[in-house]
Amino acid sequence: MELLPDKSSLRDWIASHRHLPRVLVPTMGALHRGHTSLFDRAREEASRLGGEVVATIFVNPTQFGPNEDFTAYPRPLEADLAKCREHGVDAVFAPGVGDMYADDRSITIAENRLSTTLCGASRPGHFDGVCTVVAKLFLLTQPGAAIFGEKDFQQLAVIRRLVRDLDFPVDIIGAPTVREEDGLALSSRNVYLTPGQRAQAQVLQRSLAKTARGIAEGRLETPSAAKEAFLGEFAAATLARLDYFEMVDAWTLQRLDEFGDSEPRLLAAAFFGKTRLIDNVGLS
Ligand code: AMP
Repeated sequence: MELLPDKSSLRDWIASHRHLPRVLVPTMGALHRGHTSLFDRAREEASRLGGEVVATIFVNPTQFGPNEDFTAYPRPLEADLAKCREHGVDAVFAPGVGDMYADDRSITIAENRLSTTLCGASRPGHFDGVCTVVAKLFLLTQPGAAIFGEKDFQQLAVIRRLVRDLDFPVDIIGAPTVREEDGLALSSRNVYLTPGQRAQAQVLQRSLAKTARGIAEGRLETPSAAKEAFLGEFAAATLARLDYFEMVDAWTLQRLDEFGDSEPRLLAAAFFGKTRLIDNVGLS
């Protein structure tokens, strides 16, 4: 496995592997089984295409708000590289901030529809930061396909829109959420939870899954009945503060007023102390 610490080493590596298709897995590091499942999926895809897997590790400052955890975000590079190696990654691009962004940069990609709700409502500028860095990573690594987790469902929808609207020649593959035994979605931010918060954190998945079952089985016939059921279940977590619960169309992220023909997706975010956790489920 090659470690590519800057854009110039990435360019050289690509020049010497130009004929091979690439499958990209962008991450911010602090890798866990959720990330390594994406590497495994990328490996499958790369084998099918006769190509290679490139992972990126970059804690992207432009997607963090002023009061968010950019400085505190965990950066265990050596352990991350070992996980990449174990899961068949061929090259890891791990640039510094100064290499990725010029001090006087003045161009940003803005997504103006899907980003305005859900996490975007409480994290202004977050998805513009994501779109800009992902566009740069696509241009730098030139992949044929890229894998993103359904764990960050709004991000996945925004990236699909980025690729559609700006004609990036990249297939976007969504991969299922990997969970702890009690259902909590793996996240690099779970390390911030106190033991008491950790014990209650599975409330998000439990409430989402129970609500989704109620809808699928026809017991919860309207979005408002489903919301009431979710809130009733969620109330058991005394340490949690709900940020949002929404039922949206899986592709447009538009809020559903009725279940009808669309493909509903249930998304929620909650604070445990200062730690904000997100999760989502489909109906099947
Ligand atoms: P991050 O390092 O948080 O930016 O995440 C990098 C990629 O890993 C994103 O595509 C995430 O959606 C994905 N990811 C994070 N957690 C999980 C998980 N528990 N299961 C599957 N994918 C995940």
